[in-house]
Amino acid sequence: MKIRVFTAILVCKIIRGLAKLAGRGSSLPGKYALKICPDILSQLKLPELSLAVTGSNGKTSTVEMIAHILRSNGLKVAYNKEGSNQIEGVVTFLISDSTMGGKVKSDVVLLEADERYSRHIFKYFHPKYFVINNLYRDQMTRNGHPEFIKSVIGQAVYDDMTLILNADDPLVASFGKGREGTIYFGADNLPSDTKTHEGIYDDGKYCPVCKSPMEYEYYHYNHIGKFKCTSCGFERHAADHSLTSTQEKDGKASITIDGKYEIPVFFTGIYHCYNILAAFTAAVTSGIAPEKAAESLGGYILKSGRISDFTLGKLDGRLLLSKHENSVSYDRSIDVVANDKRKKSVMIIVDAISRKYYTSDSSWLWDINFEKLCGSDVEKIILAGQYCDDLAVRFELAGADPDKTVYFTTVQEAADYCAHNLDSFLYVITCFSDKEKILSIVTRRELS
Ligand SMILES: [Zn+2]
Repeated sequence: MKIRVFTAILVCKIIRGLAKLAGRGSSLPGKYALKICPDILSQLKLPELSLAVTGSNGKTSTVEMIAHILRSNGLKVAYNKEGSNQIEGVVTFLISDSTMGGKVKSDVVLLEADERYSRHIFKYFHPKYFVINNLYRDQMTRNGHPEFIKSVIGQAVYDDMTLILNADDPLVASFGKGREGTIYFGADNLPSDTKTHEGIYDDGKYCPVCKSPMEYEYYHYNHIGKFKCTSCGFERHAADHSLTSTQEKDGKASITIDGKYEIPVFFTGIYHCYNILAAFTAAVTSGIAPEKAAESLGGYILKSGRISDFTLGKLDGRLLLSKHENSVSYDRSIDVVANDKRKKSVMIIVDAISRKYYTSDSSWLWDINFEKLCGSDVEKIILAGQYCDDLAVRFELAGADPDKTVYFTTVQEAADYCAHNLDSFLYVITCFSDKEKILSIVTRRELS
């Protein structure tokens, strides 16, 4: 074994140990290991089964669910926790799980892979399965636009990988064109689908292969649906695993995969369904029996807490975690609010746009279908946070009734207003970066 490989592993483990003692987890150990041995990733001995998950949304949830299924079925899984999906983080978690000789001890390596960094990570090793869930407009100041991200992910795709692709996202599905053995997952035609496109912009307007106009038989949401190019013949591929239905009855929700695997869930939002389906498909492709995968997923509550129920004074409410700089995630939350028949109000919080880096770009607010929210029967719209003025302008142009709209610079003021003036159910839509600002004020309840 080369001395620099050994040194890199040793240094990484020591720094990681010290960081743990100090109660800190970070990607710093990996950074030092890479300085000592830049190709350390190709020197590690990985288990035969390795999976990577990328996409604009739902990476963390999907990875957590795959890990849960594999562990429930007796496999030892090493995976990177949220926030360490760039190369230094990947090196840190893999070395933490390896022997001094560089052999990863777990049965499975599972990677949450950043869209832009996969190409750097996969230069050194190729996961057996590469799951690509979706491509949306997301963090434009970092990521540009979805087609750019598609080209960057393309640089991380190698012939010896098996791709597991969302059949309903044309940008994602185009990675499978001409590739034998690609696995697809997708949703069947669902009652919530629409014949026409909904949303402010349409990233499915043109074929990702030949740039000719595309036609859709139906849309699940935004550019996700059953598409077909009018020129080159690129079209939605038949799915190996399908979301066949969703059910909500007597307060109980479930989804059905492949017409026979019913999985109880606490929420049937289509977004969430795709993550479950991606996890199911990845686990089954990895060799887990479908009935076992479904059983493991049943009742699994996401640790990352995308939904939190709360009380604020006499009000009941629900926080729908979305992502700032990602209009599709906001659109899905708006659907939940618009489809709820209860008397309800909604608070939108934009205070810190990102928790990871500084940006004051609020252009993404113009991509969100706030028009749909304004057209629904919400009692009051409460705009909160440092960017409440940007929100107020956006809502005015979206046609919001000025008598129904209020705005506050701080979340505390907005919460006080709600507690004293509302008597309806309160939805809150915001991002990870701002969620604690409301959760620290309200009283959380068990999900119901
Ligand atoms: Zn085409």
